[in-house]
Amino acid sequence: MVATPCPLILAVPVALVAGLSRAAQFGVLIKGAGPLEAMARIRTLILDKTGTLTDGRPRIVSIEHAGDLAKVDILRFAAALDQASKHPVAQAIVAAAKAQGLVLPVPTDVAEFPGEGVVGQVEGHDVIVGGDGFVAARVGRRGDDPGGDLSGIAAGSVLVAVAVDGRMTGHLVMSDPLRDGAADMLAGLRRNGIGRILLATGDRAEVAQQVTKGLGLDGVRAGLTPDQKVLLVLSERKNGPVMMVGDGVNDAPALAAADVGVAMGARGAAASAEAADVVLLVDRVDRIGPGIEIARATRRIALQSVMAGIGLSVLGMIAAALGHLTPVQGALLQEVIDIAVILNALRALRIRPTALGADHPAQARSAGFPA
Ligand code: ADP
Ligand code: MG
Repeated sequence: MVATPCPLILAVPVALVAGLSRAAQFGVLIKGAGPLEAMARIRTLILDKTGTLTDGRPRIVSIEHAGDLAKVDILRFAAALDQASKHPVAQAIVAAAKAQGLVLPVPTDVAEFPGEGVVGQVEGHDVIVGGDGFVAARVGRRGDDPGGDLSGIAAGSVLVAVAVDGRMTGHLVMSDPLRDGAADMLAGLRRNGIGRILLATGDRAEVAQQVTKGLGLDGVRAGLTPDQKVLLVLSERKNGPVMMVGDGVNDAPALAAADVGVAMGARGAAASAEAADVVLLVDRVDRIGPGIEIARATRRIALQSVMAGIGLSVLGMIAAALGHLTPVQGALLQEVIDIAVILNALRALRIRPTALGADHPAQARSAGFPA
């Protein structure tokens, strides 16, 4: 009677479902028990830059022009072509051009290279817009092009190059500040045992270095194509389970390659949310810390329930074998053990991540839960 595996069958799913629901209250959607377990074991974190560690709504600070084309025309060509892209930088460029009252022609023959740039035709001109390396690889550089020297350009700038008819004609210098609380989040993750934190970006190394100055990252990998992001994830997996956080279409393959892929769901690309194991439903990267804490506490509670339940059952079996329990007493004891184990597993509903302040709404909401 007391020798049933009920604690195992009941406690684990109850704890896991409770943990998933608790994480969802913090805006962290975990797609099942497997990802939750993997999240509890993460050792290395890889963060994308634009839209993940930074706000992802860059503003145009200045336009550097190298040729005869006026600044406003550089913006107009870039924005016209970028209407074809969902990249956050592209959307910011289009919005800036429209805010200036520019009328944007519809581009033709468009080919987008996700995370790198766009090639196409605008009013009969060949236009290329995208990362400086991407454009320079197609048209080369000119002597007076500012792309080679970033010293005069403000810290944390995103640089977008524009080429018209095969010549590098200018750069849009955009500012994309770090998200609020990014530094605190990284410090919190370190305290919670994430030993290695890396930045992976398609942007230029100088830009990445400037943005991450003072964050104490273990490494910055810049100028990465989507494939190279995948290779980085795979090589880091040799050192232990890896979590990759990203927002763009170009991050989707890397998210799929990681032990746990986390997508910025609120503003990020649908493809990345689809490829991810975890989706942040609020536009806040600092929910990763609470998510990991909840995953770990849930796993601990599940194991504890199993151990305690099985331990008590074994004691019951010994007592019964020695003749101290009748079958009816044994059945009743088993029920008591099951209920105790389930109640313990339900504690996962009330996990309080330390990474968020006690005044956080999700913390307050939990105050009403039964004990
Ligand atoms: P991250 O990996 O940091 O999220 P991305 O790889 O998405 O950054 O983009 C890197 C850089 O490529 C951007 O900072 C921008 O300079 C450029 N870029 C990519 N796509 C576009 C686009 N459609 N229009 C303009 N610039 C782009
Ligand atoms: Mg990005």
